[in-house]
Amino acid sequence: MTHEFVYEALPMRVRFGADALAALPEELDQIGLNRVVVLCSPEQSDTGQRVADALGDRSVGLLAEAAMHVPSEVAQWASEEASRLGADGCVAVGGGSAIGLGKAIALKHGLPIVAIPTTYAGSEMTPVWGLTTDGRKETGRDRRVLPRSVVYDPQFSTTLPVPMSVTSGINAIAHAVEALYAPDATPIISLMAEDGVRALTTALPAIVRDSADPEARSDALYGSWLCGACLGAATMSLHHKLCHALGGSLNLPHAQTHTVVLPHALAFNQPATPVAAAALSRALGGATDPALRLWELAGELDAPRSLAELGMAEDDIDRIAEEVTSRSYGNPRPITYGDVRGLLHRAWVGDRPVANPAKDLEDSPQIAARMASDTDMTRES
Ligand code: NAD
Repeated sequence: MTHEFVYEALPMRVRFGADALAALPEELDQIGLNRVVVLCSPEQSDTGQRVADALGDRSVGLLAEAAMHVPSEVAQWASEEASRLGADGCVAVGGGSAIGLGKAIALKHGLPIVAIPTTYAGSEMTPVWGLTTDGRKETGRDRRVLPRSVVYDPQFSTTLPVPMSVTSGINAIAHAVEALYAPDATPIISLMAEDGVRALTTALPAIVRDSADPEARSDALYGSWLCGACLGAATMSLHHKLCHALGGSLNLPHAQTHTVVLPHALAFNQPATPVAAAALSRALGGATDPALRLWELAGELDAPRSLAELGMAEDDIDRIAEEVTSRSYGNPRPITYGDVRGLLHRAWVGDRPVANPAKDLEDSPQIAARMASDTDMTRES
């Protein structure tokens, strides 16, 4: 195999280990911040208050209003509050919602972010922002929203309930999976992806056994860092497009949706990506079918495996299949409407993942007509 790639490192500082609160002043010093607002979700206001207390008079306010998908009215309010309080930076403590709120403020005012992630979603490692207005989520990439410093402290994740830890961890694994077969995959990101999957798939069963296991929490957070770096560095494909459509159009829960869809998207793509499949096989202890292994693992960890149980109606399958195939994007294997329709149907029911999901549905008269006019909606990468 010959190598050909472009690798651009993202400029950020990562501090990993216990006692984030003791380390925070030094992180603020590095950037020269003296008046920060602390951001968190309402459910984590106690955690936000602990961070604010640890910062003493370098904290000028606690804004505990972060919400999933960053509603634009919350972003507007928080930006105005940050200005009113004379903030020179933000400390975002929480999952993708709190960090997303920090990104919205950074986008508007350019305030540097220090992130303390408490889930495994990975937003802290990306220059991607999102804002939701009237139910429509707009996303974009901007270097200004990339946190300047990320402080990973496993103790902050021990309160994450076990079911959320499992689905958040599988959400992270999805970033690594798609980075391995991305059109802009690079050797260094592939190394991170493989070790990220290994770390998380080892840690999650241990967390299910004992949610406070310090080694497992440390390993899971380490894996989520690696997987988040994959998300920040590589272009995502079919799996992320499916989850974006399911979350955006049907408001399905973020991490759980990733958990259900991942084995199906991977089963579809892995025949076209032998190098990625081999890396995943190594990461999963020699599994011969990585997609099936991830599906089995979700079952062993009592995670959701069907879109129906997340509240999706069967009638919505066609709409989402249309949405996902209406625009072209890079995917290792060409995608047709029938493939996506079949994949979503299996994911909706909770069936085991297969490489050719369209085949199962060929007998259905409604979609036979639609499939007759099927075209490949992707460009090969
Ligand atoms: P989240 O931040 O909404 O957190 C989910 C819930 O768990 C919240 O109620 C939160 O308060 C709570 N929580 C978080 N950590 C906890 C802890 N340690 N203990 C107890 N409760 C805790 O969810 P998420 O899955 O982390 O993030 C999802 C959001 O992030 C979505 O909006 C998604 O689009 C976005 N996201 C963005 C990027 C990006 O690169 N821009 C990447 C990943 C996710």
